[in-house]
Amino acid sequence: MSNEFEMQSNFIYNMILNDVKEGKHGGRVHTRFPPEPNGYLHIGHVKAALLNYNLARAFDGQFNLRFDDTNPVKEEEEFVDSIMEDLRWLGIEWEDRLFFSSDSFETKYEFAKRLVEAGRAYVCDLNTEQIREYRGTLTEPGEESPYRDRSIEESLDLFQRMRQGEFSNGARVLRAKIDMSSGNLNMRDPVIYRILHADHHRTGDKWCIYPMYDFDHPFTDALEGITHSLCSIEYSDHRPLYDWVVDNALDLMPEIMKCRSEQTEFARLNITHMVLSKRKLRRLVEEGHVQGWDDPRMPTVAGLRRRGFTAKAICDFQERVGVARSDSVVDLAMLTFCIRNDLESKAPRRMVVLDPLKLVITNWPEDKTEMVELDNIPGDATAGTRKVPFGRQIYIEQEDFMEDPPKKFYRLAPGREVRLMRAYAVTCEEVIKDPDGNVIELRCTYDPKTQSGNDTSGRKIRGTLHWVAARNAARIDVRLYDNLFLEEDPEGEDDGDFTGALNPDSLRVLTNVPAEPAITDVAEGGRLQFMRKGYFYVDPHDKDKDRLTFNRIAALKDTWAKIKKRK
Ligand code: ATP
Ligand code: MG
Repeated sequence: MSNEFEMQSNFIYNMILNDVKEGKHGGRVHTRFPPEPNGYLHIGHVKAALLNYNLARAFDGQFNLRFDDTNPVKEEEEFVDSIMEDLRWLGIEWEDRLFFSSDSFETKYEFAKRLVEAGRAYVCDLNTEQIREYRGTLTEPGEESPYRDRSIEESLDLFQRMRQGEFSNGARVLRAKIDMSSGNLNMRDPVIYRILHADHHRTGDKWCIYPMYDFDHPFTDALEGITHSLCSIEYSDHRPLYDWVVDNALDLMPEIMKCRSEQTEFARLNITHMVLSKRKLRRLVEEGHVQGWDDPRMPTVAGLRRRGFTAKAICDFQERVGVARSDSVVDLAMLTFCIRNDLESKAPRRMVVLDPLKLVITNWPEDKTEMVELDNIPGDATAGTRKVPFGRQIYIEQEDFMEDPPKKFYRLAPGREVRLMRAYAVTCEEVIKDPDGNVIELRCTYDPKTQSGNDTSGRKIRGTLHWVAARNAARIDVRLYDNLFLEEDPEGEDDGDFTGALNPDSLRVLTNVPAEPAITDVAEGGRLQFMRKGYFYVDPHDKDKDRLTFNRIAALKDTWAKIKKRK
């Protein structure tokens, strides 16, 4: 890996810098990202993935992608594929270092056997319920299992028979013999192997016993030569067990262990209005609250990508969040700030009227069409211009007209004058309503002296509206996305039913929306700014439909920038 990469420093970076200076692990840096393939990658995982990857790059080290596939019941090939696709899209590379925990099941079994032989592990016949009872509490020590002192020979024999499939699920487990009175519950003879008669997505029916995460993970780290094992904060209490496993592996299998891996924890990423837990995201998918893992409202990488987010914006967001020791919640507005920031100078502008109101210019000749020229990206001459037809019948946004407006409403109202962008100023002369009193048409006049770029009227016209001429309008479909959850903290205090916090209006579909003709020539990347309305993206799922379908990536309003300024 090249060491050109410069990383924003954080406490882990500084720790590794120090390790390298002191020559720890021979000055080597080797990290890994260990996703469990039981769901799609979400933006919280991205934090862990980028941190590991960037640290390896910053120290000219190595980075492994390792699937933690120790639970055959919930894991699927689909998730393995999607995780790799998402990581590649983010620019994360693992070269030839793709690993699966299951690759070394045989080695782990051998290690477990050696633990038994050394008297440091035993087969226990208590069931799950009993094990929990014996474990004790935070304030009370645990009680030793009656099987704790069974002979090494008996444990060895039973463990081998567990492997051979002689016993049913849950009948027996292998436990590490550590300390039932430890202040740390994880050290009270943790289960390290369990019986599970289930097919594994890679090993098929070869195994019916599977290692537990707390046993598998540290061992695999040391086996792969991971120098710095980084994980989120909830694993802090597991660190003594992590060390126990690594130390025992080094002691009992020194011939294949590559280093004494060490675990360091960092804060989890939480974002307002989002749920970041695969278990919960899975529920959203399975119960049909969203249309799949890649639904553009999901906080998954696949969802964000389909919504129109760029990898650059997501990486920029992670940089801004930084890496801390304790958990906090990041405002969702920061993520939308990052995508706007990326697209502002890149996304060509187009005029689209999402919620059309007809406007007729009564003094404009019936058949006359005039072409007006607009910059694709204002302030960037290299982005070129486009021509937009202007005519007698125009659409403007409903919200740009008010019959009885307050003083500071600088848009259209009876008797008021407003500029139609890059075209002429019009004055509203008459309001036409349907029998229910809804405004359905505005009759206006234009003043030829107000031609944009050549205004000789001498009047100051305050408001400028975007518009689409009816006659040559293209038609598109638009999906307006809003937060999936109304509540800032959808998970609330407890683990209550977060689906109650779902936003019933998180998706609004608009069809047959008028747009300027040049809407069809969407630049590469498929992202546009609809003037005054936000950033939009051609949903790749709908690329082949007759009519273009756009997802709204983000609105234009920039609450985050305001928040930052206020500080
Ligand atoms: P989830 O809670 O979504 O099920 P997980 O931790 O069980 O997450 P894994 O696939 O085991 O999912 O996670 C892979 C890595 O990503 C782990 O190292 C984990 O610490 C990290 N990770 C998961 N969620 C977050 C988060 N919200 N912020 C930062 N890192 C995370
Ligand atoms: Mg996990």
